[in-house]
Amino acid sequence: MAASQAPDTIDRFSLPDSGGHFGPYGGVFVPETLMTALQDLGAAYDVARKDPAFLTELRHHLKEFAGRPTELYFAERLTAHCGGAKIYLKREDLLHTGAHKINNALGQALLARRMGKKRVIAETGAGQHGVATAAVCAKFGLECVVYMGAVDMERQALNVFRMRLMGAEVRGVEAGQKTLKEAINEAMRDWVTNVRGTHYILGSALGSHPYPMMVRDFHRVIGQEVRAQIMEREGRLPDEMIACVGGGSNAIGFFFEFLEDRAVRLVGVEAGGRGITRGDHAARFEGGKLGVLQGCKTYILQNDDGQIELTHSVSAGLDYAAIGPEHAFYRDRQRIDFAYACDDEVMETFKLCSRLEGIIPALESTHALVHGLKRAKQMRKDEILVINLSGRGDKDVNQVAKILGVTL
Ligand SMILES: *Cc1c(COP(=O)(O)O)cnc(C)c1O
Repeated sequence: MAASQAPDTIDRFSLPDSGGHFGPYGGVFVPETLMTALQDLGAAYDVARKDPAFLTELRHHLKEFAGRPTELYFAERLTAHCGGAKIYLKREDLLHTGAHKINNALGQALLARRMGKKRVIAETGAGQHGVATAAVCAKFGLECVVYMGAVDMERQALNVFRMRLMGAEVRGVEAGQKTLKEAINEAMRDWVTNVRGTHYILGSALGSHPYPMMVRDFHRVIGQEVRAQIMEREGRLPDEMIACVGGGSNAIGFFFEFLEDRAVRLVGVEAGGRGITRGDHAARFEGGKLGVLQGCKTYILQNDDGQIELTHSVSAGLDYAAIGPEHAFYRDRQRIDFAYACDDEVMETFKLCSRLEGIIPALESTHALVHGLKRAKQMRKDEILVINLSGRGDKDVNQVAKILGVTL
């Protein structure tokens, strides 16, 4: 473990460095042709983030279009069910288009407009990021092309139709496994070709600098709201906070405001899939190794030759072989702990939360709930646990019905 720096002495605002490094993680790994584009993007973002007019406009759209602030909801019946800590849910599921992803899509669309780019591209797996991107592009009158694996297009036909309704062109990708990884490759290829007039809205805290930092910043509003809301409700900070981790954008946005509060335990939950055996899961910290994937140095599920492993999760949004570099850094520093939840536990908790709270959670977010309910049972009644409900489960009901053997 790289523990040259004591956890308490980390200055979260000093990360990443100017090269995009979070300690040994992050950085820039792209073809030469994209170096200038990333530098331009970094420079434009650096000016925008300090520009009060940009921040005011972003706040305005987050409120009016996305529906911020989201509630911090006391889950009374889940709390009673567990018999331990008070459970609060941060309701990102209430946002427009159904998940936290709209925070980042709005921020990057405003930035694209500011940079004079009239065309936006994105990649999507389950379709949530594609839908959020299509929505903001419609709103700002930007041309929108979304790359999606052909297999994902078939699985998520409804999201494909939603994107098309909002004016986006959805391009199917037939290469490889025909899922997210191939869609990202295609988006990168498009960006190389059309870089002058095109902005690439990357959907998670991944990829090359400045994306992990920028996507994190656009989601920091989640944790800022939680901090104010829990202080108002309870007069103190929570004892523990839990979020699911795909690329890591909802989690880092939720955690960031609390990194310096050592008394607040932070836990990220990865996808344990069918269990921790090769090819059956997407828990990068359970057997992943340092490597580079799609622009980023981080923990990656790969074999001994460096070939990317197949991954599996019941939730498409967590089904990716790499984890955001900032999470790897804070794990080394023992500031963020990691756990995983498996498909069968996720299915049980999906039903439980729906029945006890009247809230159908996204399968991704349900991973955080699985671990959260375990922890709540172990915690005292006077302790406080906040779980990030990153999205709603409407998109998942067809899939869940199929798994449960229900014909709709
Ligand atoms: C995409 C998605 C995730 C995973 O992405 P992160 O970048 O790890 O947040 C989690 N929850 C929901 C609802 C999503 O749509």
